[in-house]
Amino acid sequence: MVDFSSWLNTNGKPAIIAGPCSAETEEQVLATANALKASNRIHAYRAGVWKPRTRPNSFEGVGEKAFPWLQRVQNELNIPVAVEVANAKHVELALEYGMKILWIGARTTVNPFSVQEIADVLKGVDIPVMVKNPINPDLALWIGALERINQAGIKQIAAIHRGFSSMNKQFRNAPNWEIPIELKTTLPSLPLFCDPSHIAGARDKLSYVAQKAFDLDFDGLMIESHYTPDSALSDAQQQITPGRLNEMLEQLIVRNARSNSAEFTAKLETYRSAMDELDSELIRVLAKRFDLSKELGEYKKENNVSVFQLERWKEILDSRIPFAQSQDIDAHFAEILMKIIHDESIRIQTGIFQQETQD
Ligand code: PEP
Ligand code: MN
Repeated sequence: MVDFSSWLNTNGKPAIIAGPCSAETEEQVLATANALKASNRIHAYRAGVWKPRTRPNSFEGVGEKAFPWLQRVQNELNIPVAVEVANAKHVELALEYGMKILWIGARTTVNPFSVQEIADVLKGVDIPVMVKNPINPDLALWIGALERINQAGIKQIAAIHRGFSSMNKQFRNAPNWEIPIELKTTLPSLPLFCDPSHIAGARDKLSYVAQKAFDLDFDGLMIESHYTPDSALSDAQQQITPGRLNEMLEQLIVRNARSNSAEFTAKLETYRSAMDELDSELIRVLAKRFDLSKELGEYKKENNVSVFQLERWKEILDSRIPFAQSQDIDAHFAEILMKIIHDESIRIQTGIFQQETQD
């Protein structure tokens, strides 16, 4: 996969793609683009031409007639434009009008038929394609979509993290940061963007989400900006003016993935070796606990007592979680950890019982 700096020239800075949720009118497209250009911070312009809406009879995008407006952004302002494509026809039209970047939306990534249809028309085309995560927190589905696009011969690919549908409404779409982190671990050379707009769903949470993305070493942001956000025809609550975006970007702190300072490197090494030591200790303690599980399993078997005892499990949770909290460990984390350890003990003990049945 090509390093994204070859298709977005960012001089080593995080890439910023900004623009309205939807292209609405020629005036809106150009006024927003001009204001964004004035801040000198954006590397590409985004706009939805066709909008996948949850309910019918909402604004579904102006369609093909937006392309001449977007061409003006590319030709007159010299900003590459990214548009969302959800089927083969969209790709054909976007290419015909010379759009510089395509992205696949969250509602399309969930469907391998649609992604494959898009991949098929992209064969032999050299254009950057960005793939948003599927709406459900399924990393394999996200990677599968990236692979389909890559297998069509597209080399300039990036992923966009836009959060996941969830019952937890703290955000419009739950960030589940562990999923993009795992994506980055699996595909380290894949540029990873964050879309704070669709995660936050509200203006006041945008900068928190964007800063978090920078803290986690994301390569760039795709963010919605509209010259009159209150009257936007889609996603009004999460769009901000170009001026406000400029202020926000100015305040965000870009972290370095590494530092060349000798002092920092030495200190980092000290922290890391202390952590390595603690991890080894954790593993040794776990091994001892599982040895004990094995002994206990054999003892239960001799006495014909079942492996799982509900009261014991409750007692474990009731004592371990408050103890963990007293040690400043998050209660939810402690519960998950104890569950994994308990599941493994049960697996070990059930194994011992099964040996008996086979004998
Ligand atoms: C959008 O970018 O406006 C959009 C529809 O996003 P998503 O696919 O993330 O919902
Ligand atoms: Mn939107």
